[in-house]
Amino acid sequence: MFDGIPARPEPAVDPVAATFDLLGDRLTLTILRLAFTHRARRFTQWSELTGAPPAVLSARLTALVDAGVLTRATGSAREYRLTALGLDTWEILVCVWSWQREWTREGAVLPEMVHLDCGHRGPPVPMCRACGCAVTARDTGVELASDALWRLTSGRRRSARSIEPGPGDARFDEIMEAIGDRWSAVVTGLALAGVRRFGEFGAVLNISPTTLTERLARLCAAGILRRPGDGAGAAREYRLTPRGRALFGVFVFLLAWAQRAHPDGPDSGPRIHHRACGQPLVPALRCRGCGMCLARTDIRFEPVPAATRPSLDSVG
Ligand SMILES: [Zn+2]
Ligand SMILES: [Zn+2]
Repeated sequence: MFDGIPARPEPAVDPVAATFDLLGDRLTLTILRLAFTHRARRFTQWSELTGAPPAVLSARLTALVDAGVLTRATGSAREYRLTALGLDTWEILVCVWSWQREWTREGAVLPEMVHLDCGHRGPPVPMCRACGCAVTARDTGVELASDALWRLTSGRRRSARSIEPGPGDARFDEIMEAIGDRWSAVVTGLALAGVRRFGEFGAVLNISPTTLTERLARLCAAGILRRPGDGAGAAREYRLTPRGRALFGVFVFLLAWAQRAHPDGPDSGPRIHHRACGQPLVPALRCRGCGMCLARTDIRFEPVPAATRPSLDSVG
């Protein structure tokens, strides 16, 4: 027996950062969407449906396998299945779809979500699993750990490639402004948590004023934030637009999934609680028609009939 040199612990992966790096990507969301809606399983299916260059598609599929979202089918290197963790992304995708449906120009031509039990057509709402009530950003309180924010925004991170146009659905362009890179995601997340003043963003983020100004301007241009008072002497404030506030569902399900994907990771995410019932927010989706809590198999997406489909040019 001899005393070995203790293994240096691997730097802990921040669950939230890893989740935004993985899923805050246009092609990755497209791959997952097609796995649910088109039952895409084979490399060639995704390749035909997305038109992505093979090397790029291959890299994204490998990243999804490494993250435990997809698994390679036995006997075929080019066939993949969603794992249980992969299936758990359905609520994130439904929230992304809901936001696009209600807040983007393309919304009118997206397939419609149908609740099979009651026949209701249209987006669901986030709800608190503890008490069953619908929740919005305004109904919740958020505690942020500053060291967690530091971990989230520091360290090796993916380049901001995904907010540049790349392969995948063009329909994901607008949501990428909010979740396509860590800085934008964190600034949007802080705004959802109630942060408004330029100085407050700067203080919690430890970010250079130049970068912060650039990100805030970008989020204003994307219609996610707005500046209420531009008058002389007005505090430099940023508020969420209704469109920005509607991203709440996307964020709470991303955060919930981050914990599921990294059960042993540092507990770094913001703690969100539902003010009305006082419980930590465990989010679920609720049908707007019948009020039922939805499971993945309770819903179906139906294409909008071509006859009633407005052309993109005539929308908005
Ligand atoms: Zn509650
Ligand atoms: Zn229903």
